[in-house]
Amino acid sequence: MTNRRQTVTVNVGGVSIGSAHPIVVQSMTNTDTANAEATAIQVAQLARAGSELVRVTVNTREAAAAIPEIVARLEEVGLNVPIVGDFHYNGHILLREFPETARLLAKYRINPGNVGAGQHHDTNFATMIEVAKEYDKPVRIGVNWGSLDQQVLARLMDENARAGSPKSGTDVMIDAMVVSALESARYAEELGLPHDKILISVKVSSAPELWQVYRQLAPLCDYPLHLGLTEAGMGMKGMVASSVALAPLLTEGIGDTIRVSLTPEPGASRKLEVEVAQQILQSLGLRQFLPQVTSCPGCGRTTSTFFQELAQKIQDYIRDTMPEWKAKYAGVEEMQVAVMGCIVNGPGESKHANIGISLPGTGEDPRAPVYQDGKLLTTLKGPRIAEEFQELLEKYVQE
Ligand code: SF4
Repeated sequence: MTNRRQTVTVNVGGVSIGSAHPIVVQSMTNTDTANAEATAIQVAQLARAGSELVRVTVNTREAAAAIPEIVARLEEVGLNVPIVGDFHYNGHILLREFPETARLLAKYRINPGNVGAGQHHDTNFATMIEVAKEYDKPVRIGVNWGSLDQQVLARLMDENARAGSPKSGTDVMIDAMVVSALESARYAEELGLPHDKILISVKVSSAPELWQVYRQLAPLCDYPLHLGLTEAGMGMKGMVASSVALAPLLTEGIGDTIRVSLTPEPGASRKLEVEVAQQILQSLGLRQFLPQVTSCPGCGRTTSTFFQELAQKIQDYIRDTMPEWKAKYAGVEEMQVAVMGCIVNGPGESKHANIGISLPGTGEDPRAPVYQDGKLLTTLKGPRIAEEFQELLEKYVQE
C-alpha cells in the first residue's frame, strides 16, 4: 500500500481531490473552445473514456462565450463532468466579462508565469482570485517550466549568484517553480481564498526534473497536487515517458490528480491519454478501472495470430462492456482474466485469475482448457473458441 502524502480535500464540481480520495484522472480538449459543438463532443468522449475532470482552454472572448453552450450540450446528453477553464494572459479580463462562464466552470487554472508583469501581475492575479471567491470556485496554481514567472526566476538567480556555493541553472529553475507556486498560493489565501480551494502543479517535460520539483514541493505544503509530465510527446514515446515520470512519485504517495499529456496522431482520438492515465494507476495498484487481462507475450509456440486476436478481442470486449457491467455489478472491475498462449504458463496463470483460458500452442492438442476460480471449468475446441470464451466470461460476471 502506498502512503499518500497528507493533503486537504478540494471539491472540484463534486469531484473530491486530495489524499483521502482516489487519485483523479483528468484530461484536456484540443478543439477550438469557441466551437461549442466540437468541444462538447470531445469533452463527452473524454468523460465517457473515464476522464473525471476535463479542462478546456479559455483563451479568447469567443471561447469564454462558448462555455455556457458547451455545458448545456453536455447536460442534454446527461453528462455533468466538471469543466475546468485554462487561463493564460487574459483570464482576469475574461472571467470578469463573462460571469456566466465564471459561474459554470468548476475550477480556474491560473499560470502565475503569465498573468502579467510588474504591478499588473498582482492586480491581474488578484482579480482572478476575487472571481473565484465570488463564485466559490477552487483554483489550480499551475506553474510550468516553459512559462515560469520571470520575476521570481530573476530574483532567485540574483540570490544564487550572491551565494557562496551557487546552484546549477536547473536547480535554480526548480527552486523558482516551487517558490512561484507557493508564493502564489499564499497570496491567494491572503486575498481571502480558503486554503481548501487551492491545488498546485509544477510541470516540466523531463522525468528526473519532474521527480526533483515535486519532491521539493511536496513536504512544503498540504495542497493537493496535480501531476503530469508536460509535453510528453507522441505515441509510444509519450506513454513511456509519462509512465516513467509519474510512477515513482505516485508510489511515494505524491499526486492527487494526474494527466497524461500526449500529442495525438493526426485525427486520432484524444481518449488515449485517459486510458494511459488509468493504466498507470491500475498497474501501480492505486485504482482499479477495468478487469485486469493477463496475457503472455506469445512466442514460437504461438505461430498463428489466433492468440493475439483473442487477447485483443477480450480486452476490447471488456472495455466496451464495462460501463454496462459497472452499472449492474458492484466490484466487477476487480475481476482478473487470463488469456494465455499455450500450456507452459497457461493453466497456472488461468488458475490464478477469476477466469482464464489457455489456448493450444503449436503442436499441442487443439483444445483450450478454461479455468474458473482456480478449477477446470470446461475445455473448448473448434472454430468458436473465442465466442464461447466470451460467453463464459459474460456468464461469470452475471453470476
Ligand atoms: Fe510462449 Fe506459452 Fe509462455 Fe505464452 S505461455 S510466452 S505461448 S511459452
